Amino acid sequence: MVESRLVMKFGGTSVADIERIRRVGRLVEAEVARGHRVAVVVSAMAGKTNEMVAWTDAAGRAAPGLPESDDEYDVVVASGEQVTAGLLAMVLRNMGVPAKSFLGWQIPIITDDAHGKARIEDIPPENLTALMDAGTVAVIAGFQGRTPEGRITTLGRGGSDTSAVAIAAAVGAIRCDIYTDVDGVYTTDPRIEKRAKRLARISYEEMLEMASLGAKVLQTRSVELAMAHRVPVRVLSSFTEPGEASADTGTIVCDEEEIMEKRIVSGVAFSRDEAKVTLFGLPDTPGVSSRIFSALAEAHVNVDMIVQSKARTADHANMAFTVGRRDADRALEIMREVQKDIGFEEVAVDADVAKVSVVGVGMRSHVGVAQSMFKALAEKGVNIQVISTSEIKISVLIDAAYTELAVRALHAAYGLDQV
Ligand code: ADP
Ligand code: ASP
Ligand code: MG
Repeated sequence: MVESRLVMKFGGTSVADIERIRRVGRLVEAEVARGHRVAVVVSAMAGKTNEMVAWTDAAGRAAPGLPESDDEYDVVVASGEQVTAGLLAMVLRNMGVPAKSFLGWQIPIITDDAHGKARIEDIPPENLTALMDAGTVAVIAGFQGRTPEGRITTLGRGGSDTSAVAIAAAVGAIRCDIYTDVDGVYTTDPRIEKRAKRLARISYEEMLEMASLGAKVLQTRSVELAMAHRVPVRVLSSFTEPGEASADTGTIVCDEEEIMEKRIVSGVAFSRDEAKVTLFGLPDTPGVSSRIFSALAEAHVNVDMIVQSKARTADHANMAFTVGRRDADRALEIMREVQKDIGFEEVAVDADVAKVSVVGVGMRSHVGVAQSMFKALAEKGVNIQVISTSEIKISVLIDAAYTELAVRALHAAYGLDQV
């Protein structure tokens, strides 16, 4: 028997009701029976966090001109995980498996004070390892932590993945198993393309790009942490039978060197969470971009893709950039302010856009990958508005109405249905 520490994480659909929590209990029991010393991280029941976020909106959290309440937002939305942690510990005890629940502050999971999107700074492992090694399952509420001053924080949507990987790193777990409603990481979101294929392995770098470009199967920050601490992560279905998971189950996120099959493109990701801001008739002089982007940075508005081109009239330029859809109104306000200062002609915001990306480490050593992408989109009549590339990804901004068409066309163009 392997006497080693294992972290198991269960997402919202996996703990959506008591019957499913019992099923989770059996999966945990099976790993304990195999000799693992287990810590479990749970999400809130499916839909609960959304419901609570809506309450905080109704209470005026994001209303302009009202005092900021981001710390109270965290107090509200962190509560869903408290319920599932307690219920799972109860279910495990009733099955004869010693278990004890923990909230973020009780461990403690120490984060910075960026409420709503806090980053984990420290997890002293002693309490957890002592408990786990004594044979008790630690059931931990995901998504939450506390500031050094003791205020509750949350880690951003999907943050329980990050709680799980951070705990796995802290306790020196042999692996972090992320149980969800799909049986692994696919070549694209299987809800959009039925022909998507499960990848047996994917590199940390590719998974990081896939996640940050919209594949929500893992929170981006969780992949960053896994990569930094070299935690092997496995994504698998919580509908697996207890004790059935073997080395071939799910998808392993690991070092590139551990992957035998070499693909040029591993996956297609998309995000509808984008808005395009276009500035027309900018003065074409040094310092203009600097003023625009420092104003956005000061307001903590993240900018992603940027293009600038010469306008038809001499001494003028046009610029387009993308921001998160939630930031679109704020970006427009800021641009109106900047307009008074630098005097461009017009600003327009378009939220009906989507970013579609292809990702693969093979791009480093192959030419023509971008060309195949543009050709596949052209054949479907999809117009490209903005392009951005990095070493292992190419992204295009398109009309949101064509998202699914574009994803399927690219999936086929790179032969991903045959992986
Ligand atoms: P959980 O509640 O377990 O955290 P999420 O809803 O956050 O689950 O993530 C799982 C979902 O991610 C899947 O249902 C799937 O629709 C979506 N997804 C997006 N891209 C991918 C991909 N490339 N592979 C697998 N799932 C993906
Ligand atoms: N419950 C949180 C959310 O819905 C965290 C998570 O599920 O990972 O975002
Ligand atoms: Mg998730």
